[in-house]
Amino acid sequence: MQNEQILLTRQQMAWWLVIGEDQLLVAQGEQPIPFGCLDELPFPNLDAFEQLVVGEYEGYPVNLVVLPDLNLDMRFGEYQGLRYLLGKVSDELFNLAGRAFQIINFLNTHRFCGQCGQPMHRIDWELAMKCYQCGHRCYPRVSPCIIVAIRRGKQVLLANHVRHNRPGHEIYTTLAGFTEAGETLEQCVEREVFEEAGIRVKNIRYIKSQPWPFPHSLMMGFIADYAGGELNIDKNELNDAGWFSFDDLPLLPPHGTIARLLIEKVRQRCR
Ligand SMILES: [Zn+2]
Repeated sequence: MQNEQILLTRQQMAWWLVIGEDQLLVAQGEQPIPFGCLDELPFPNLDAFEQLVVGEYEGYPVNLVVLPDLNLDMRFGEYQGLRYLLGKVSDELFNLAGRAFQIINFLNTHRFCGQCGQPMHRIDWELAMKCYQCGHRCYPRVSPCIIVAIRRGKQVLLANHVRHNRPGHEIYTTLAGFTEAGETLEQCVEREVFEEAGIRVKNIRYIKSQPWPFPHSLMMGFIADYAGGELNIDKNELNDAGWFSFDDLPLLPPHGTIARLLIEKVRQRCR
């Protein structure tokens, strides 16, 4: 990835991702991400802070400004966590904001070399941190995860995860888990499904991926068919799981999530 350490001119029109303490500056109204040039936006002087172009959106650069804290007198809007943007901006802009949060997370967690303990330094030809003592180099961490919707006849397997159990608002969704070192994605699907639900699957097919920057996952979505075994859930991960018919579904994750997309893919195959 290119490391564009370009300071935009004060007249350059751009999107502004102003982030400090894991919070993002958002505006009220239709478009929460500030857009315009620095001379016109009601920002205090941002030139003092680290800046990085993280991409382009609708023909304009998307500029990350890293604030050390939120003590700046910012009357433009309010600060919110990244999840605030879900469903409020396009997927493309959400992914760029996610990228900005991931870059900050990377810089904050790679200040010292994991090999020799000396301070790391940003290099200027790609986005990476390098140790000039021992040569060790690190790139932003991306953690692959599988997420899978499983079909049995005209039913889909849905589970209520322990983190989705707000009383009266129990969301039932697909199974998911982190890929382990040395494992293929298909092996990961088989292992996670067996560990969490006690069943075997077959006909594993890749559908789509979605960056999930909380803090640096990449969800890789699959569908699969039930192959055997009795449901036996891992109580550390799941409160409940079951086979659901499409005319009698529980509360599902919202549209726009890859989980929902996979459930809808299984629904199409059940027609
Ligand atoms: Zn080192």
